[in-house]
Amino acid sequence: MVRRLAKYDAIFLDVDGTILWVDLDVEGYVGDLAPYSKNGPLTVEAATGPVWQSVGRHIAENIKHRSEESLAGFKADNARVTAQALGVEAPPDVLTQIADRRISFNPFAEAVPVMEELRSMGLPIYIVSNWDVLLHEVLEDLGWTYYFEDIIASAVVGVEKPERGIFDEALRVSGVSPDRVLHVGNDPVTDIEGASSLGIDAAFIDRKGDGEHPLAVVSMLDLSGLPDFVRS
Ligand SMILES: [Mg+2]
Repeated sequence: MVRRLAKYDAIFLDVDGTILWVDLDVEGYVGDLAPYSKNGPLTVEAATGPVWQSVGRHIAENIKHRSEESLAGFKADNARVTAQALGVEAPPDVLTQIADRRISFNPFAEAVPVMEELRSMGLPIYIVSNWDVLLHEVLEDLGWTYYFEDIIASAVVGVEKPERGIFDEALRVSGVSPDRVLHVGNDPVTDIEGASSLGIDAAFIDRKGDGEHPLAVVSMLDLSGLPDFVRS
């Protein structure tokens, strides 16, 4: 009998809220847009709502845009809607460039050491994320693609967590059976309920301290305890 070194044969890993957080530099955004303001100076206070609503629309609707071209069109439309809400008149490409420049993807401090350790244990990591078709580029810009066996993004598959199709695709790509996978994520519904409904163990990364999730096999405040949990 082969002795297993870990409880699992693969890790499925969520992105936003699990290994990084998305931030928006509203102040920088407002500064970039200042030359285009129609109704007097734009303030950070007035811009914060519309700018974050723009991120919300992106999260809600990117699944409909399954090619880079389609996503680019959607981003231009979204930037126009935001500009209108802000009382700003600028060419669409300027608006999308500013939006792209002022969004940032920030690794949680323990993410890299934990991914290093999982890799050194020989555990393949598959990204399973509700994200637009450019997820690969975001992870590449962070220098992270080395950590991942493959990257499964909802907009590429056409199905978002918690629906089973995206997990099924990750199982197909990894060739690992559901009972040998640990899905790690921060969202009680998309990650924990989603994975659990397919018989995949789920680890709840409870960064807000909401408390244990009844369906999760483990709940932790950040990723630090993950290697020890999967080791035994
Ligand atoms: Mg998440």
